[in-house]
Amino acid sequence: PFTNLGLSAPLIQAIQEQNYQQPTPIQAKAIPLVLNGKNLIAAAQTGTGKTASFVLPILQNIAQQTTPLRGKRVRALVLTPTRELAQQVEQSIKDYAKHLEISSLAMVGGVDSEPQKQALINGVDILVATPGRLLDMMYQRAVHFDQLDTLVLDEADRMLDMGFIDDITKIVDRLPEKRQSLLFSATLSKQVKQLAQTTIGDALEISLAQNKNSEPKIEQWLVTVDKAKKSALLSQMI
Ligand code: AMP
Repeated sequence: PFTNLGLSAPLIQAIQEQNYQQPTPIQAKAIPLVLNGKNLIAAAQTGTGKTASFVLPILQNIAQQTTPLRGKRVRALVLTPTRELAQQVEQSIKDYAKHLEISSLAMVGGVDSEPQKQALINGVDILVATPGRLLDMMYQRAVHFDQLDTLVLDEADRMLDMGFIDDITKIVDRLPEKRQSLLFSATLSKQVKQLAQTTIGDALEISLAQNKNSEPKIEQWLVTVDKAKKSALLSQMI
């Protein structure tokens, strides 16, 4: 059960309200290690419960902090490849932090940056960001990392596929060297491991046995058809 993982009562309550019966395998492995301040490289796909595996222990670690957060500062930074994922992760943080006084913000591109700057004025405990917008805000001195304790690279393989390597390097270069770093990726390819080496250094590596049931059941095939008949054929097939 979740109660065996060392999580505090406000988090257990939030988990119960989410109706989670038991931790997923990645949660059972990662939560105690992250609570202990370990650096981690984890192979986990979306759908495995990976978000809670880093959000829950980060929330608990932040809840134990006693130093006040200064303006424009953050305690934890989560980098994600897409705006949608950033917003989804930030929603999970809000859900799990329901019974804690912990603030969060999604900082993504494609929307006005002014409200995001305003939200940072008094500091934010957990910032979830896409690399481009975050760099932009860093250059504008809207956010500073001297109080940062934890970095999470979420879906690292997708960030590399999307060409964010330079942005990530520039961001990580400006973070305090003494920090906890976590990297999550669907695959631990050579490139991902290289990124982990430069951004995280020494870390425990955890991966899950491939579960056949977790493979998406998607069948693909190709049908050639005149453009004019495409809609009719599609609705027929549906
Ligand atoms: P993720 O892999 O983080 O994208 O999570 C996939 C989905 O699993 C989300 O909708 C979560 O709310 C849900 N979830 C996470 N942990 C658990 C759990 N222990 N039990 C049931 N559902 C969970």
